[in-house]
Amino acid sequence: MIGGGLAGLSSAVALAEAGFQVRLLEKRPHLGGRAASYTLPDGSEVDNCQHVTLGCCTNLADFYRRVGAGEKIHFYDRLYFVDKGGRRSTIESSWLPPPLHMAPSFAFFGGLTLSDKRSIAKALLSIARAGGHPPEIDGITMLDWLHRMKQTSGAIERFWRVVLVSALDEELSRTDASYGIEVFWKAFLGSHGGYRVGIPSVPLADLYEGCREAVTKKGGEVRVRCGVREIRLERGRFSGAILEDGSAVAVDACIAAVPHRVLPDLLPKGAGEGGAWLEGLRHLKTSPITSVHFWFEKQVMTEPFLTLMDHTTQWIFNKTLLSAGPDRPDETAGRAAHLIADGVGGDTSSGQYLQLVISASYDLVPRSRQEIIDLCRRELADVLPATRDAKVRKATVIKEVNATFSPEPGVDRWRPSQNIGIENFFLAGDWTRTHWPATMEGAVRSGYLAAEALSASLGSPQRFLQPDLPFEGFSKMWACRASRNGTCSA
Ligand SMILES: Cc1cc2nc3c(=O)[nH]c(=O)nc-3n(C[C@H](O)[C@H](O)[C@H](O)COP(=O)(O)OP(=O)(O)OC[C@H]3O[C@@H](n4cnc5c(N)ncnc54)[C@H](O)[C@@H]3O)c2cc1C
Repeated sequence: MIGGGLAGLSSAVALAEAGFQVRLLEKRPHLGGRAASYTLPDGSEVDNCQHVTLGCCTNLADFYRRVGAGEKIHFYDRLYFVDKGGRRSTIESSWLPPPLHMAPSFAFFGGLTLSDKRSIAKALLSIARAGGHPPEIDGITMLDWLHRMKQTSGAIERFWRVVLVSALDEELSRTDASYGIEVFWKAFLGSHGGYRVGIPSVPLADLYEGCREAVTKKGGEVRVRCGVREIRLERGRFSGAILEDGSAVAVDACIAAVPHRVLPDLLPKGAGEGGAWLEGLRHLKTSPITSVHFWFEKQVMTEPFLTLMDHTTQWIFNKTLLSAGPDRPDETAGRAAHLIADGVGGDTSSGQYLQLVISASYDLVPRSRQEIIDLCRRELADVLPATRDAKVRKATVIKEVNATFSPEPGVDRWRPSQNIGIENFFLAGDWTRTHWPATMEGAVRSGYLAAEALSASLGSPQRFLQPDLPFEGFSKMWACRASRNGTCSA
């Protein structure tokens, strides 16, 4: 296994549990790849960026369970939104059958006009009635589709954009409509629980503690600071890898789980059926994510997280409170006050740590760190009045310029499958063809798919991929009607 991000880790753990002896080689000093924690110069540990999962991410949940991290992810049933004037709204599920389960909270949602809501309801219903696959969306952008669906500008800016830019790390005008529609279908329309937001209560690094053990107890090995310089092929087969220190590694089969921008430098030109797929990787563009971290001297926020409308900042995570996690999700806001009064868990006695996230942050990339901090402080003052006179102990900005591949129209043709025609060599990574956007779920899916392909190539086929959440209510009926084979599955 080359690469210790989620794709490499998930395939390593799955294969080790299935009885394979796995050697995982990671170039950096830590595991987790893009979903990892850093140590700041002052010694404090921060995640490179807040990572959230959703209820519909069934493979990621399976991976966390395998490595004993399932309990470290807390799920929240209520989503909190705030507009420019500081007005709060929430979205949550009700007992109504999908896709109607969110209708009651949507009806009372404050940030949208009646005509915005009417246009949104019409578009959502058209996705659901088509079983998630509305007609004639090939090659068009999400923005094109929204215009076609006659969405009001308020609906586009304050609803579709708010949800999709952070889910897909791309602007609506550059996003393949099928990706945007799939987010709504899988997370918000298909089932009661798909939209639930899962947030780690520990630093990301702590989620991977069980990986090393899962691999080594089956006789395998996990090595960090161990970069691969070259992947060798002979007569169309993987024959070994050369490490950065010049030593050689020989194994029966290999999964390369490195970023798509790295792989072409490791492989010989023309690898795998002429190498057209390798050339194709150059067409995969990337988009940036910026996170801004503030340590306030006092308590400034009671919600566990907030989604912002009308601002550059898209999400604010109350890291102090999230590290405590809710007892019961529907008590989250109440518990926040309780925790603060007791001075437990969230430990606000020593202030509050907030993390702000801005996806598709193209405009911020050229701006200085101080400019970004100033902009975010102004936005915090809008939505969290307590920050206005609160002292900031320290603040830091992390720009991930190549955070994820951009899901632009037609992007799937550049995403190779895990099996690229080399008998004992497979690919994993969020950028490989999983039909999922660049997410932790996409990375784990790719890892499981590559592990399935590898196990089959060694004569011991295994199944690792988990089923999607089952559709419910009317969505199930419409999914059945739309599916060509009548299986009604996701
Ligand atoms: C800022 C940011 C925020 C994000 N937020 C979310 C979120 O909220 N929810 C979500 O689901 N997803 C989120 N993502 C996306 C998610 O992090 C990625 O999709 C996922 O982590 C990708 O995993 P991967 O294993 O495919 O790739 P990577 O994590 O990139 O792993 C590749 C690994 O290969 C290693 N490597 C590279 N070259 C070599 C070599 N020569 N030899 C050995 N090893 C090598 C790298 O060091 C790395 O560890 C976010 C991403 C970023 C950057």
